[in-house]
Amino acid sequence: MDIKKLITDQFEEMVAFRRDLHEHAESSGNEVRTAARISEELTKSGIEHIVTPYHAVIATIHGGRGPGKTVALRGDIDALAMPEETGLPFACKTRQAMHACGHDGHAAQLLAAARALNQLKESFPGTVKLLFQPAEESCRGAAQIVADGFLNDVDCVFGEHQCNNLPVGEADIEPGVRHASSRTFLIDLTSDSIEHSDVVPAACAALLDMQTLSSRETPPEEMFVFSMCDIHGGIDPETGRDTMHMEGTCRTFNPAINAKVEEWTRRIFTETCAAYGVTATVSSECIAESVINDPACTMIAKNALKKLFGKEADHPLPPTTGSEDFSYYLAKCPGVFANIGTNTPDNRYHYPNHHPKFDFDERGMIVGASLHVQFAHDYLNQK
Ligand SMILES: [Zn+2]
Ligand SMILES: [Zn+2]
Repeated sequence: MDIKKLITDQFEEMVAFRRDLHEHAESSGNEVRTAARISEELTKSGIEHIVTPYHAVIATIHGGRGPGKTVALRGDIDALAMPEETGLPFACKTRQAMHACGHDGHAAQLLAAARALNQLKESFPGTVKLLFQPAEESCRGAAQIVADGFLNDVDCVFGEHQCNNLPVGEADIEPGVRHASSRTFLIDLTSDSIEHSDVVPAACAALLDMQTLSSRETPPEEMFVFSMCDIHGGIDPETGRDTMHMEGTCRTFNPAINAKVEEWTRRIFTETCAAYGVTATVSSECIAESVINDPACTMIAKNALKKLFGKEADHPLPPTTGSEDFSYYLAKCPGVFANIGTNTPDNRYHYPNHHPKFDFDERGMIVGASLHVQFAHDYLNQK
């Protein structure tokens, strides 16, 4: 069984498929063509699957060695609603969407893994579920797949992300926290003032008070960031109403802090603003919990990487403050999320994710696809 060969033999197909999705990028919630293309390719390979009304494609491969556990492999498939500036020959021409996070590659490498696993199905027991997930960027897709029960029979979930912080041939697979949680805040202030604005000084004072949370409420070693990103307000010249609307975000690695921050924010805004005669209303929504890798699953993935690409392929990175809706799967079952190197040693692909000039080294898809296959195979065959 030569997993690397089964994947490398598909390299041209992977590249062509990735470029086709890239050229026809569809943002979160609009992945109609993307899902149809994936479905078409799975049908060609005789792989059983369904397409949901919200553009998820869920494929199933039963192992030939009898019953066993079920492992899910996840690849997200959506683009961002932004114009592309890469100048690539396969750039998306619509200027409505761009694959600026590498999810075109995630879809292509999961498809290649599906074909390889289908060829190798006599070598494992149990079941592999392939989750081609829409709407990752809006943090809605994973939640919907979980809500529909597709994770109910899954014992372990594995996910990957293209990573330009590492060269092709290396990957970061570490236990514990990997991505921060993300919580959004909507805060509205109103006052009865008509001669001068009270909401402006009240908002300034409350925002400064918020910055003391990291020294008063959270342990110093914990990452905690509260950022107000958008503020509109003051006295409306026509109606005379003194109001303010603010939108912000909070990032932390610690689920206990994420659970408390709404209460802290409400207390600070309500009480600080009250001193200025201003009423504050605070609402918040947790968009994604932190991604926390299960130690046992991480060990299987790390060993799979070393088996395929040698000890030197293992390159730990620190956790990142970016969030990932993979956490919705991890709330249902243990799993592991890996970062797959997609840069060159001379840093040719230096634009970060979500940049209008983002691109990645397509050879990284060989590592991503091979690791999907090796992980599923090793997980299902473990004693
Ligand atoms: Zn992204
Ligand atoms: Zn992404």
